[in-house]
Amino acid sequence: MNDQLPHHYREIIRGVGEDPDREGLLDTPARAAKAMQYLCHGYQTSLEEVVNGALFASDNDEMVIVKDVELYSLCEHHLLPFIGKAHVAYIPTGKVLGLSKVARIVDMYARRLQIQENLTRQIAEAVQQVTNAAGVAVVIEAKHMCMMMRGVEKQNSVMSTSVMLGAFRDSYNTRHEFLQLIGRSH
Ligand SMILES: [Zn+2]
Repeated sequence: MNDQLPHHYREIIRGVGEDPDREGLLDTPARAAKAMQYLCHGYQTSLEEVVNGALFASDNDEMVIVKDVELYSLCEHHLLPFIGKAHVAYIPTGKVLGLSKVARIVDMYARRLQIQENLTRQIAEAVQQVTNAAGVAVVIEAKHMCMMMRGVEKQNSVMSTSVMLGAFRDSYNTRHEFLQLIGRSH
């Protein structure tokens, strides 16, 4: 960890009008710095490390879909959490990813300062890059604390973003099948 981080949190505590030396706040700068570093641990990892060779030969060329991957991220505009689910699908062309790897790819990009649109695209492009898939689809649905806790205070608004690559972009039927499987098609 950057050893200046606790010091900066101390200044934030002072900045909001609190006394960083009162008993309940004494250890807060160190704890908050540690928490923030955890929430941003995606910067310490690369796609290669996450996948770590867990690519397996397969003659399956049907859609592989991983639904409801829990997602915790921080919006880069307010440093407040956004929380939701990612749905990821791809159409293999000879290689499939190990089961847990899609979730780990989601986590690697989510654990950074993000906007939801870029996060969605980064996940799609990463899956495309490692699998050389015929198509990749990613949908993210998330609630943003910066919407819920401040400003407009829209408590129940869910933001939905999607990125469709390859076959998911070119074929209505493929896209439709995916959206149906994640329950987003009417
Ligand atoms: Zn925000």
